[in-house]
Amino acid sequence: MFCRNCGAVNDDNAFKCIQCGQVLQGTTAGPTEPVPNHLVPAILVTVFCCLPFGIVAIVYAASVNGKVQAGDYAGAVAASRNAAMWSWISFGVGLVVSIGWGLMSFLGAAASQM
Ligand SMILES: [Zn+2]
Repeated sequence: MFCRNCGAVNDDNAFKCIQCGQVLQGTTAGPTEPVPNHLVPAILVTVFCCLPFGIVAIVYAASVNGKVQAGDYAGAVAASRNAAMWSWISFGVGLVVSIGWGLMSFLGAAASQM
């Protein structure tokens, strides 16, 4: 197989790349629990709530699976936590903004009636 990191040719059942040490078979080493990537909530909050923070959440969420495949389990868990955190931040900001916006338009409509 080819190393994803440096492109060196390795033995098919090699655990690590002979050239750069990149772990080639993430599934055979370390914890194998799936890491939730939180991609769906990240996309939902981006669409419905708050675009800038949602994009941060999507970037973290999208990096989770890649890190798992690269054998970087700790990095995947960290990215997963960040994705969840930014999804909640985006959700909270979106909620506050939409309540504020609703209040403003309500007051604006009320003011224009007078
Ligand atoms: Zn390599």
